[in-house]
Amino acid sequence: MILKTRFKAIVSKIKKMGYSLTPQRLEIIKIISESKNHPSAADVYNKLKKLYPMVSLNTVYKNLSMLASLHEVREIKTMQNSVHYDGDISLHGHAICEKCGKIIDVEINELDFKGFFETKIKKKLTENYNISNYGIEFYGLCAGCGKKAVSVVG
Ligand SMILES: [Zn+2]
Ligand SMILES: [Zn+2]
Repeated sequence: MILKTRFKAIVSKIKKMGYSLTPQRLEIIKIISESKNHPSAADVYNKLKKLYPMVSLNTVYKNLSMLASLHEVREIKTMQNSVHYDGDISLHGHAICEKCGKIIDVEINELDFKGFFETKIKKKLTENYNISNYGIEFYGLCAGCGKKAVSVVG
C-alpha cells in the first residue's frame, strides 16, 4: 500500500516538473519505490535490464540523480564511496557499516526530531538557509562485522 503511494507520488512530481515519463523511467521509479534494501544504481540497473536489455547504467544513474535532486529519492553514501538510493523519504536515519557497507534503517521519533530541529538547528540556519532536505547517518560496524572485529582483537 505504502509503496504504491510512493510510486504515485513520484510519478505525479515528475509530471509536475515537466519531465517525460518513458517506460524505462517508470520502471526505475517502480523499482526504487518498491526497494526496501537501499539499492545502488547497479542493483537497479540489474533489475531493469531484465525488462529493458538495451538500457545503460548511465541512464539509471541520471534518473536516480534526477529523482534525488527533486528530493523524491534519498542518496546515501557509504565509507567505500558507493552511493545507494532510498525511495522511502519519510523521516528515518541510516546506520551504515564502515566495513561491509550494509545500510539499515533507524527509526526516529518525529516529535523528538521536530523538537530538536526547531529549537536547536532551525533557529541558527533560517536566516541564511532554506532547508530542503536532510540526512541522518550513523557510521559504525554492523552486528556481523562487529563480531569479527572483536574476535580479531581477542
Ligand atoms: Zn558490516
Ligand atoms: Zn532508509
